[in-house]
Amino acid sequence: MIYISKSNSKKSKKESMSLTIEKIMKELNNLFTLRVFEDRDPYRVLVRTILSQRTKDANTDKATSQLFAKYKDIHEVADAPVEDIEKLVKSAGFFRVKASRIKEVSLLLLDHYGGVVPDNLKELLELPGVGQKTANCVLVFAFQKPAIPVDTHVHRIPNRWGIVHTTTPEKTEIELMKIVPKHLWIEMNDLIVQFGQNICKPVHPQCEQCPLTDLCDYYCENLSLI
Ligand code: SF4
Repeated sequence: MIYISKSNSKKSKKESMSLTIEKIMKELNNLFTLRVFEDRDPYRVLVRTILSQRTKDANTDKATSQLFAKYKDIHEVADAPVEDIEKLVKSAGFFRVKASRIKEVSLLLLDHYGGVVPDNLKELLELPGVGQKTANCVLVFAFQKPAIPVDTHVHRIPNRWGIVHTTTPEKTEIELMKIVPKHLWIEMNDLIVQFGQNICKPVHPQCEQCPLTDLCDYYCENLSLI
């Protein structure tokens, strides 16, 4: 169970929550290696993130490598026929939408930003097809700037722990930004995604393998007496 001090002091509640989150992240760091993204080129990270929407990592990896095997940089992608981009990224699903977004965003970056991906949230969100999660992924994985990309795992798992009680990824991001110490933001998505893929799975969480049972509301409320 998440421990919150009975003190009425907001400060002490916040400190207590920060300690809990530090402990959780330490356990996740013990379980998983932070993935080193070989390619931190901001344009490639942006394209990869667009391709990653609603598909698995393996499909994203295949589509990304096929695209950049043929078209090496933003100039070549912007010049490429969209039908050809569609074929190359087909494995990522929703390939027509994703191909046209990639083409559109490439042209816009060349026209308005000299082909350079902006490193701030405001300008990233102005790009076509770039929402909050994609923008945050670019900030974290390309620029190493603190942000919390909230995907399905990062929404589900903090709710299971009971450190947030939210109904949408957007609200989860807002709440996490209030309670997670900023030095943990960059690694948070990567570690929670690995935890969600391997242990705290969406339908059948592997609680018997989990080192966080004593910190987890879901476990304490549903499974601790079984
Ligand atoms: S105890 Fe179960 S539900 Fe809780 S974090 Fe671990 S795997 Fe997820």
